[in-house]
Amino acid sequence: MAIVDAKEMLIKATEENYAVGAFNITNLIQMEAVVDTAVRMKAPLIIQTSVTPSKFLNAKVLANIYKTMAESAPIPICLHLDHCTDVEYCKTCADAGYTNIMIDASKQDFKNNIRQTREVSDYCHGIGGISVEGELGTVSGVEDQIKVAQDEAALCDPEQALEFVAKTRIDIFAPAIGTAHGVYKTKNPKLDFDRMEKIFKLINGKGVKMPLVVHGGTGLQPDVVKRLVSLGGSKFNVSTDLKHVLIDATYGYITSHREEYNPGKIDIAVREAIMAKIEYWIDLLGSAGKA
Ligand SMILES: [Zn+2]
Repeated sequence: MAIVDAKEMLIKATEENYAVGAFNITNLIQMEAVVDTAVRMKAPLIIQTSVTPSKFLNAKVLANIYKTMAESAPIPICLHLDHCTDVEYCKTCADAGYTNIMIDASKQDFKNNIRQTREVSDYCHGIGGISVEGELGTVSGVEDQIKVAQDEAALCDPEQALEFVAKTRIDIFAPAIGTAHGVYKTKNPKLDFDRMEKIFKLINGKGVKMPLVVHGGTGLQPDVVKRLVSLGGSKFNVSTDLKHVLIDATYGYITSHREEYNPGKIDIAVREAIMAKIEYWIDLLGSAGKA
């Protein structure tokens, strides 16, 4: 039985200095490709959905497919709701069977962010078996329907971070350190590594209590990814990269087989492309063989 929440999986990752890939999926083909690759590589896994696909496919349907896959998988797998700004929908997904919930109240003021995040923490912990991710500071770019301009994105204040994690009782923490959603406009985006290090030391200096999350993995250079992992990032979110693979592989197959009407073959092409991409990320994050 490999249905787990994210906390324990990520504490182990932090202590052993690797990161777990948290891969956004929008359909069943992607979900199976992600799970099969992680199983083959013996890597712990976080499957994520943002709110739109979760509503489109139905949270209960998704959670039940996840349960069926995870129960028979020999690796720990967590189902995570990504960037949900709506407290009530966080609760809906917790009830449906998601095992990690991200309440993203990072656009609210500090007090309201704490209040909303705490409400979701209390609710999920009341059910049991569900961990909660909160965010402080904002990640620029577009994720699902949430848009944050780069000049509006505020980095996480380390002292406030301490207060935030204590008052919200979250299990895993996403501090904004300059990463962005979508595609980076430059090859070397300005990331605040010192801030990441400071936040990690303040929160986890005396033993790992609160795993840290890195958002906006797509497009980061391999050495940057490795540096963020070495500074304590143990959940690494990858979304845009997988969307590109899905669409490019679909388009590529259809354009080169325009006379063929066999949807299963498109699925196979997409599945293979996704598996190759997931393999790249699991290798880079160092999680292969850690399950
Ligand atoms: Zn994100």
